[in-house]
Amino acid sequence: MKLKPEAGMATKLIHAGNPENSNGAVMPPIVLSTTFEREEDGLGYRNGYLYSRYDNPNRRTLETKLAILENGVESITFASGLAAAAAVFHSLKSDDHVILPNDIYYGVRNIIAKLYAGWNLQYSIVDMTKPAEVEAAVKANTKLIWIETPSNPRVKVTDIEAIVAIAKRHSCFTVADNTWATPYFTTPLDMGVDIVHHSTTKYLGGHSDILGGALIFANKDPRYAFIRDYQKIGGAVPSPFDCWLLCRSLATFAARLPINASNAMALAQYLTQHPAIEAVMYPGLVTDSQHEVAKKQMKNGFGGMLSILVKGGQTEAIRVCQRLEILKHATSLGGVESLIEHRKSVEGPDSLTPDNLLRISVGIEDTDDIIRDFDQALS
Ligand code: PLP
Repeated sequence: MKLKPEAGMATKLIHAGNPENSNGAVMPPIVLSTTFEREEDGLGYRNGYLYSRYDNPNRRTLETKLAILENGVESITFASGLAAAAAVFHSLKSDDHVILPNDIYYGVRNIIAKLYAGWNLQYSIVDMTKPAEVEAAVKANTKLIWIETPSNPRVKVTDIEAIVAIAKRHSCFTVADNTWATPYFTTPLDMGVDIVHHSTTKYLGGHSDILGGALIFANKDPRYAFIRDYQKIGGAVPSPFDCWLLCRSLATFAARLPINASNAMALAQYLTQHPAIEAVMYPGLVTDSQHEVAKKQMKNGFGGMLSILVKGGQTEAIRVCQRLEILKHATSLGGVESLIEHRKSVEGPDSLTPDNLLRISVGIEDTDDIIRDFDQALS
C-alpha cells in the first residue's frame, strides 16, 4: 500500500511496511523459515532474504515502521533493549569516553561499568539537567553523550537541544533513550540527536509480553553500517514472532499513549495533594522543576511514568505497594496495566535511588479506579 506523506502516525503505524500478500491475507503472516531459496540464476535471493539472522520479512516490516515512527532513515532491532544499547557501546573503541546522566536506567550504566570495563571504555556521570556540567565533563577522547529523558527512575527531563549543541561543538555523537517519552511525546531525531534507543519491551510493545530493543538512525553513516553488521554477525536478533507481535502492538500505539498520559497526569495531581506523599516527580505538573523544559520539547502530553516519595521511609513505601489491589508490585513499565515498584531494592547496592521512592507506570485502566486504589492504599 502506498501511503501519502501527509498520513498521520496512527495510519502509518497500522499500514506502513506491510508486505503485499499473494493470498489476499489482510494481516501479514509470520515467516518462521530460517532459510530462503535462491533465485533461478543460483546466485541471487528473492527480495534479498538469505537467512533469518541477516534479515526476515517480519523484522523488515517492524524496522520500517519504527524508522517512520521516529522520523529516522533506518532502524535496527535487537532481542532486548540492553542488546540494542550494547550495540552502540560496541561501536566505540577502547579508551573512548562516554558521558552518562546520573539518573539513568541502571542496566545501561552496568553495560559500561561491568561488561566494557575490560576494554577501558571510560565514562563520566553528570547531572544532565545542567548542560554546563555536561560541557565541563567533555574530554579530548569523548565520543558519545547518552541522553535519557524523562529519566528512570527520577523522571528528570534533559534539554535535548542544549545537549546536542554541546555534542556538535565537540564532535561527539548523541544517543537518546526514548523508551519513557516515546515518539508520541518526543522525537529526538528532529532535535538533532544521531540515534534513538528504545527498549521496545515497554510502551512500543505495550502489553508486557515482548522483550525487544531498537535503534533508529538520523543518517546512514559508517556507525549505522557498523551496527547493522553487529546485528547480523553478533546475532542478538528478535524472533519473527516477537517482530510480528510488536507490529501488532504498534497498530494501537497512538490509541494507547494518550490514555497512559492523561491517567498519569490525573494520578500525579491527586498524589501531589495527598498528606502521605512527600514528593511527586512528574514533568507535567506545573510545580515540577523541569516543567518548562518538558513543555518546550514534549508534545501531546508528558508520558505515563511518575515517581513518588512516600513519607515514612522504605517500610511505609513497601506497605503502600502491598496494599494496592489493582496496581501490581512488579518491575517493568509501559504496559496497558498499571505497575508500581520499589526501585532501590531492584537496583542493588550501587543504587542512588532514595529508599522511599516508588516508580509508577500508569496503565490505561479507568482513571477513577486507579485513584480509588491509591486512596485505599494510602489511607
Ligand atoms: N532503557 C530504559 C529507559 C529502560 O527502562 C529499560 C528497562 O527497564 C531498558 C532500557 C532496558 O530494556 P530491556 O529490559 O528491554 O533490555
